[in-house]
Amino acid sequence: MSASGAASSALLSPARPLVDPFGRAISYLRVSVTDRCDFRCVYCMAEDMTFLPKAEVLSLEEIDQLASAFIRRGTRKLRLTGGEPLVRRGIIDLVNSLGRHLNSGALDELTLTSNGSQMARHAEALFAAGVRRVNISLDTLDAARFARITRWGRLPQVLDGIAAATAAGLKVKLNTVALAHENAHEIIDLMQFAARGGHDLTLIETMPLGDIDQDRLDQYLPLSTVRRQLAERFTLTDLPHRTGGPARYVHVEELGLQLGFITPLTHNFCESCNRVRLTATGQLYMCLGQDDQADLRAVVRGANASEAALDAALDEAIARKPKGHDFIIERRGAQPAVKRHMSLTGG
Ligand code: SAM
Ligand code: SF4
Repeated sequence: MSASGAASSALLSPARPLVDPFGRAISYLRVSVTDRCDFRCVYCMAEDMTFLPKAEVLSLEEIDQLASAFIRRGTRKLRLTGGEPLVRRGIIDLVNSLGRHLNSGALDELTLTSNGSQMARHAEALFAAGVRRVNISLDTLDAARFARITRWGRLPQVLDGIAAATAAGLKVKLNTVALAHENAHEIIDLMQFAARGGHDLTLIETMPLGDIDQDRLDQYLPLSTVRRQLAERFTLTDLPHRTGGPARYVHVEELGLQLGFITPLTHNFCESCNRVRLTATGQLYMCLGQDDQADLRAVVRGANASEAALDAALDEAIARKPKGHDFIIERRGAQPAVKRHMSLTGG
C-alpha cells in the first residue's frame, strides 16, 4: 500500500473516535425511530399533531446504517426513542439487527425509552435481542389524571407493560415529568411504587421544546424545590455516578430507591455531554437545546453513499457540536427555545 493509502486507511480506522472541539468524546447516540405516538402528552405534543410523510422518515435499514456508522466511530450506548418507538412497524427487526453490535462487543448497551403502552407484547423479544434495560414514562398512578396528561393513554395498559418488562428480565427505570398542577403531590407515591417494584425513578423538569397547547410556565415545577421538600422527609445521599447527561442521582435510604433528577433548566450539565441525537428524518442534532443540525439522510440517500462519506459527514457534524444549550423559561407566553417537538428529537 502506498504511504498515502496507508494514511487514509488509518484515517478511516474504526478505532478513530468522534471527539468534539471541546474534547468531549461522543459515545452515546439517541435515535428517534418515529415521530408518531399513540399518546398526546400535554407537555410533549399538541392534540392535533401533523406527522411526517413516510417518505421523509428513515427506513429501518437506513437507521441501522447510520447507527452502525456511529458504533464504528466509538458509540458505546444506543437508545431508541421517539415518538413511541414500539409503534414503529418492524421495530423488533431493527432491535434484532442492532443486537449484533452487542454480540460483537462493539456496543455496551442497546436500550429504549417507551411510554409502555405496547411493552407487554414486545418485552420478551426485546430481552431476546439483548436489551437489558428500558425507560418507561409514568407521570401518575391515578387513572383519570393519566388520561388527562397523556390525552389518549390508559394507565392499566402501561402498568401491564411495566410488569411484563420486569417479568421478561428487563430492568425498568421510570421517568416522571414533574408537573406543578398535576403530579407534584404524587411524587412520593411514585417513589414508593418504584421502590416496591425494584425500579429506579428519574424526575424530569419540563423543557421548552415545540409549540404545545399550554403555557409552559404553568406546568414548570423546579426540581430544586422538589428535592428540598424530599430532603425534609427522607435521607438523600448523593451518588457519584453520572451518565454524561443532565441526570444527577441520589439514594433514598428509607425506600432503598435510586432517584434521578434531570434539571436542564436549573443546572448546567453541558460540560460532560457525550451524546448526540438523530431524528426520525435523519437530522443529527448535536445539542438538544440548539437548532444546528446535520442532514445525514442526504448522505445515506446520496448517489455517493459509502462508509467513507458517512464518516466524513460525522466528522463535519461533530466539529460543530456547541459548548452548551440555551434553555430559558422566563416569561409567560415565551416562545419555545427550540421549535421542534421532543417527539421529533427524542427525549
Ligand atoms: N414515547 C416515549 C416516552 O414517552 O417515554 C419516548 C419519547 S418521549 C419524547 C421521551 C421522554 O421525554 C419521556 O419521558 C417524556 O416524558 C419526556 N418529555 C417529552 N416532552 C418533554 C418536555 N417538553 N420536557 C421534558 N420532558 C419531556
Ligand atoms: Fe408520546 Fe412520549 Fe411524547 Fe408522550 S412523551 S406524547 S408518549 S412521545
